Amino acid sequence: MSSDKPSRRQQILEALAHELETSPGERITTAGLARAVGVSDEMLAQMDAEHDRLATAPKAADAAMGTSATAPTPANAAAAKPAPAPPASETGGFDGARARSYLEKIVSFGPRPPDTPNLRREQAYLVSQLQSFGCQVSEDNFQAQTGVGKLSMENIVAKVPGRDPGIVLLLSHYDTVRLPGFVGADDGGSSTALLLEVARNLCGKPRPLTVWIAFLDGEEEQTDFQTEQQAQTIWTSNNNTFGSRELAASMDLSGDLKRVKALLLADMIGDANLGVTRESNSTPWLEDLVWSVAKRLGYSQYFLSSSMPVTDDHTPFVSRHVPSADIIDFNYPYWHTTEDTLDKCSPHSLAIVGHVFLESIKALDQKFVSGAHGKS
Ligand SMILES: [Zn+2]
Repeated sequence: MSSDKPSRRQQILEALAHELETSPGERITTAGLARAVGVSDEMLAQMDAEHDRLATAPKAADAAMGTSATAPTPANAAAAKPAPAPPASETGGFDGARARSYLEKIVSFGPRPPDTPNLRREQAYLVSQLQSFGCQVSEDNFQAQTGVGKLSMENIVAKVPGRDPGIVLLLSHYDTVRLPGFVGADDGGSSTALLLEVARNLCGKPRPLTVWIAFLDGEEEQTDFQTEQQAQTIWTSNNNTFGSRELAASMDLSGDLKRVKALLLADMIGDANLGVTRESNSTPWLEDLVWSVAKRLGYSQYFLSSSMPVTDDHTPFVSRHVPSADIIDFNYPYWHTTEDTLDKCSPHSLAIVGHVFLESIKALDQKFVSGAHGKS
């Protein structure tokens, strides 16, 4: 099968070529390349297969925008509405529709780069929601020296005490990339909405392991991008992942880092066409645990066996030997484009990943705390 649309792989390679040609002075690091093209042959083949599949059965959004390779038929026009979430009772208490409403609210704040009024509105929203769920909330403010100057940043950490001091640390970044018109429904929004709904499920209830849920500032590269191509290719050392580096360093200093039994990072998990791959810098036993939970729940079609490397908010923890898994669907055609909007994300995807998070936390309880039984 083929189509006139360039494949995602071609688009990335062309963007890179363009970037190298037009900004030869910019440093494109290995991490940036890993994000852009550092994918295995298996992953590229999968992207191409996916591209062919989409060319035949266009995505809802494509059909809506009239950019698909084939004309919408009633069948795929019906698919134009993102899939609804199953009832919360079928996803371990995780309410995908509710998570979707959090996502809508977050996106309504507009572009949310660090140290902007929009991001401060999001911070106030996150804190008030977490408090309403009965979470203990701490706001950790810090100054970051970035490529666009000194910025005030804030990590928001919700803490759920357990009878065991061991910590399950959940992470999401809540800032969006510094690109005009970018609202980050999937990148920044989806994982934040997901962890809010996870927090609603966990806060105020007794549990075996302690859970910390950290909403991180400043994950994105701090450069004022003018084009999507720049935003997709430039990733320089020490000018991104500010919140996670701050949290890892402060937990290291306080001694809390030693208590972390497992870290689960959520990033870009709202894609209506969900396909979470393994991430090759993550800790194998922890990924195995998450993937076996997904398999048990019947989600193997969404939690794929292929793997790709991604530099992300888990990296400062991986380098400190904290068992970590990055749960990310990086095969998202709208990544760092102004098309990363609500219509590309589905409550169904949020519900699936939320269910896997809640059940993985239970599996970790059982692994680390004696007497912590009870599957749902
Ligand atoms: Zn991003």
